[in-house]
Amino acid sequence: MSQQLHTPFVGQAQPDLVVAGAGVMGLWAARHALKRGESVLVLEKREVGAGASGGFLGSLMPHMPDRWNAKKQLQYDGLASLEAAVGELEADTGLDCGYRRCGRLMPMKHERMLAHLEERIAGARDWWTDEDGKQAYFMEHVPPEELGRRFKTPDGTPWLSPDLAEFGASHDTLSARAHPRSYLMALAAYVRNHPRGEIREGAHVLAIETDGDGVSASLADGSRIGCGRAVIANGWEAYALLGAMNGGKGAVCAGQPITGRGVKGQAVLFELAHDDSLPIIYDSGTYIIPHGTVAGSDEEGGPHLIAAGSTSVDDWLGWHEDAEQARKAFDRDDTAFYDHAYELAPALEHAPIVRRWANVRPRNTMTDPETGKVGTDALFGALEGQENIRVAIGGFKISFALAHLAHEL
Ligand SMILES: Cc1cc2nc3c(=O)[nH]c(=O)nc-3n(C[C@H](O)[C@H](O)[C@H](O)COP(=O)(O)OP(=O)(O)OC[C@H]3O[C@@H](n4cnc5c(N)ncnc54)[C@H](O)[C@@H]3O)c2cc1C
Repeated sequence: MSQQLHTPFVGQAQPDLVVAGAGVMGLWAARHALKRGESVLVLEKREVGAGASGGFLGSLMPHMPDRWNAKKQLQYDGLASLEAAVGELEADTGLDCGYRRCGRLMPMKHERMLAHLEERIAGARDWWTDEDGKQAYFMEHVPPEELGRRFKTPDGTPWLSPDLAEFGASHDTLSARAHPRSYLMALAAYVRNHPRGEIREGAHVLAIETDGDGVSASLADGSRIGCGRAVIANGWEAYALLGAMNGGKGAVCAGQPITGRGVKGQAVLFELAHDDSLPIIYDSGTYIIPHGTVAGSDEEGGPHLIAAGSTSVDDWLGWHEDAEQARKAFDRDDTAFYDHAYELAPALEHAPIVRRWANVRPRNTMTDPETGKVGTDALFGALEGQENIRVAIGGFKISFALAHLAHEL
């Protein structure tokens, strides 16, 4: 890491920025502020990686490139710039984030999907472009007879089952993957190793409020920390923190009261040796993501882990009396997502499941002003009337591709 001429943060009474939550959103806000020369204290209730960002799925998949809108453009900007952002983070820390622009296959199960795919191929031509307007990433139709030849595991098994791809598959070159836990640990290492950065684990933030010209954070241990600005980035638990602000009236961002809930999801990790050339497979809510050696390696040192996810459960809080158990407990009866993974990728059929993971991701319940849909997006911005307090809350799917865009927090 480059040496910087800063006074050390440790021992300083008031950091420039306090961040509540050490997930991917909070740690990117911290990294940007440190790069600007600010001092940063990250307060984490549990430990780094305890939340939704600490898993192993890590798909970075674009919205479909037809019917383009501002939301798709933002997501494209995130996906297109992430490779460089991760490269810089890796160079700063010496840590591998498991990033690869691996592409994605989606089976075409009905003939009518082909006409739709034509529109998407044209959309990719128009919108997946570089600064000179030249097409940078592609979407194509792979006919059924080519699928097994182009995409196969090292023992020759077709990666995507021909039984589920009667009309072939769509293939894009924009989709990527990262290994979420490794990526998060690289961000945390950057903050911890920076002379003006600190992550305090076991620090439970109860409230953040404007205090004179600055902000103060009240912690569960009774302490108060004053700072210049604060970023609320504590995942799905941010909605309660924000809802209690302004005397219980809640906080407003971009003209809307901030509301949302936590949606629980689960994922599994299969052990299957591969050569790290395979694309993501996506179909009907099931993702299959081959990971590189940063996730783990076999005896020969080759990649051997493939993740599959995920589920969405709203009423998880009643699962256990203990809310922490409810948040993390894996429901072994909920197998539909990986049963479908077996159908999609026959090579997984005899691959043992070596890890199971469940956690809760944020899902805001605010209406997108452009599309009119209730949001699944990440939320960034300043609170109305409290310019020194910002929010950075992840979204339902694509947060890992967007978190690095939050420069201004
Ligand atoms: C099963 C599953 C699969 C997913 N798959 C993908 C995927 O493939 N691609 C993708 O981009 N996204 C995916 N997501 C979504 C993504 O993981 C989340 O959107 C993202 O991690 C949210 O990041 P965050 O920083 O907002 O929250 P989190 O990662 O949850 O971080 C919030 C942190 O705040 C801490 N905290 C909570 N309350 C307090 C408090 N009061 N004080 C201090 N700290 C506090 C928590 O302990 C936690 O560490 C998936 C999520 C799940 C659950």
